[in-house]
Formats: sequence, structure tokens, C-alpha cells
Amino acid sequence: MPPVNILIKPASSACNMACRYCFYKDVASHREHAFEGMLSLDRMQQVIQAGMAYAEHLCSFAFQGGEPTLAGLDFYRRVVNMQRQMARPDVQIRNAIQTNGYLLDDEWAAFFAEHHFLVGLSLDGPAELHNGNRLDAGGHGTFNRVMRAARLLEKYHVDFNILCVVTGRNAKSVEKIYRFYKKQGFRWLQFIPCLEPLEQERGVEQYHLSAQEYGKFLVRLFDLWYEDLRAGQYISIRHLDNWLGILLGEQPEACNMMGRCSVQFVIEGDGGVYPCDFYVTDAWRMGTVGDVSFAEMQQGAVAERFVKASLDIPEECRQCRWLPLCRNGCRRDRAVLSDSTVGLNCYCEAYRYFFARRERQLADAVRLICHMRL
Ligand code: SF4
Ligand code: SF4
Repeated sequence: MPPVNILIKPASSACNMACRYCFYKDVASHREHAFEGMLSLDRMQQVIQAGMAYAEHLCSFAFQGGEPTLAGLDFYRRVVNMQRQMARPDVQIRNAIQTNGYLLDDEWAAFFAEHHFLVGLSLDGPAELHNGNRLDAGGHGTFNRVMRAARLLEKYHVDFNILCVVTGRNAKSVEKIYRFYKKQGFRWLQFIPCLEPLEQERGVEQYHLSAQEYGKFLVRLFDLWYEDLRAGQYISIRHLDNWLGILLGEQPEACNMMGRCSVQFVIEGDGGVYPCDFYVTDAWRMGTVGDVSFAEMQQGAVAERFVKASLDIPEECRQCRWLPLCRNGCRRDRAVLSDSTVGLNCYCEAYRYFFARRERQLADAVRLICHMRL
């Protein structure tokens, strides 16, 4: 049995904000029921039971959405109590939550600190960029509220990452974003290329990120990061950390950099279980927690079909010298071909552009990181 990662959506697709590029709103709209209901405590108990029955060494619970804080703080208090009651001595339990920060107050922050939740906070750089896409239900920018949440997390010494969605506009402002994070003291960063709606031709949305924009973004981001690294200041950027790890012979921890899909047990509000956050649609439902065990789901036909669809390697990739690092990226970013097989990653040009221009510096960064680890 492997370590288990369970992604839980306690508030289904419900959210108290209205970000322009919300991928989950789009994914949910492809289901018969976009809102699957709030996850009950009884269901949550079944989730913990299923995780503890299946996990070896580690069982991680990552709450996300929609907006997971809509489940209310009391829900999470009950969750950690249930985890305590169902814990196994040989399995470490970890909790994480990915939030827009809108509802966070002292009580939430104190709770996260007490129970060692790792928090992912969505913040797209300084106000003028963040407020372009991350709006509240009334259409107003949320920058001040999110910054307030960040300060609260700091006040209570909660470990947190900053999650930044990369749009075409944000990509052009990478310098501004990076320097803003540094000035705020944020040192754990994730940059996530924005997703465009399922089954829609790319490039229609105003937040579209082109491969050319993304390639230039990667080069510039790397340069800013590398300059700091050479000055002895390490800033964690998840994508770069994973590439450096691969060069060091390690397995990437990010699913989207493994070159193939893996099954992640995403739990919707009605207890439905799906293999990946990007595919929480009726076609990919593996079963309902409590009815089917994680082991059975992992070995079931849906999981097999899901993983299999990610295994083909396009001819361009086979011939490409960057394949060991790139691995054709995340399957969600790969072209869907007319015969339903999966093709080349839409950011292929970006990856080629980046690796060709920063190969030597990447190797040097590996050397510097090794030196720092000593
Ligand atoms: S679609 Fe991407 S994130 Fe989802 S399982 Fe596949 S590689 Fe991982
Ligand atoms: S850079 Fe392009 S061709 Fe090369 S491995 Fe990545 S997706 Fe495939």
C-alpha cells in the first residue's frame, strides 16, 4: 500500500468569490450536478476510515474547493478529532488547505497553527494584478482581504505557500510579481498556468496564456530566482524545485511533472471519488466513499482508463532531448486528438524555449542547491 493523498472538497464547487478564471466552476458545470452538496461529517468519517485503511506510512488530507472554509471552522475541529480517534501508530497524518483567504480570521489562523495545517493562499501578486481576476461576489477586488489573511497566518506562525495563477497579463509582469512577493517576505511560491475551459478551443478567454508568453515568463522567473540563489538566498518555486529534483535523480513530487497521471482520490460533497482535480466529471467517477474501498477504486476500470490515457508519448517527445525533464507536462494541458488519444502539451514551445536558453544555468543551480544541502 502506498502513501495516500486525499483531496477533499467539503463545500463542493461553492465559493464566496468569483474569480474570472475559476477552473473548478467550469469542471463542475460539466457534471449533472455542479454542486454536489456540503460534505457531511458522517461522510468525512468514511473518508478518514478509507484513508487509514489504505495508507502506508502517510495519509495526507488536502482540503480545497470551491472554497473549503465555507464548511466552517467547526467542521475542521470535528475532522481533527476524528483523525485522532482513527489514527494508526504507523501512519502519519498530514493536513493542508488551499484557500482564497476571504474568511480567515484570528480563530482560523490559530486553529491552523495548533493543528499544523499547511495553507496554500491564492494571491496573484500586487493589487493591480490580483484585482484584475480575483473578485468577490460583488465584482470587487479582494487584494486587501487576502493580504490581511497572509498577515494573520504570519502572526500565528502558520506555514503557508502563495499560489499565483499565471495568465497572459501576469506572465508579462513576472518581475513585478516576484519582487512584490520578496518584499512581503513570501518565500514559498507556486506559479500555476491558468487552465482554459474543458472542450473549448484555447485562446478565446481574456486570461489566455500563450506558449510564447509562458516561455518568456519561465526564463525571466528563473533568472530572478537564480540571481537570488547565487546570492545565497533560496526561494522555493515548486516548478523549479521539481526540475532541480529530477536533475538530482529524485522523483518529482508534483503529479503534473511525473509524465503520467496518478490516482489522487478527490472527494466531492456527496462522497463521490474522482482520480484528479481536473477531471471531477461524471465520466471519471470511481465510486462513492464508504461503498467502495480506495484499493478497489485504484484497481478499478475507471482508474485504469484514466492512467492509461496519459501513457502515450507523442513522436515529437520521443525525439526531444528535453523529455527527461519535461515529460510532456500535465495531461490536462495536452492536446486531445480526434481519436481521443492524448497529444503534445500546449506549452511544448514554452518548455523548449526555456530549456534551450537556461540549460547551463539549471545545471549550475543544481550544484548550488547541493552545496546548500550539505
Ligand atoms: S491530469 Fe495532470 S494533475 Fe491530473 S493526474 Fe494527470 S498529470 Fe496529474
Ligand atoms: S518540450 Fe515538447 S516535445 Fe519536448 S518533451 Fe516537452 S512537450 Fe515533448
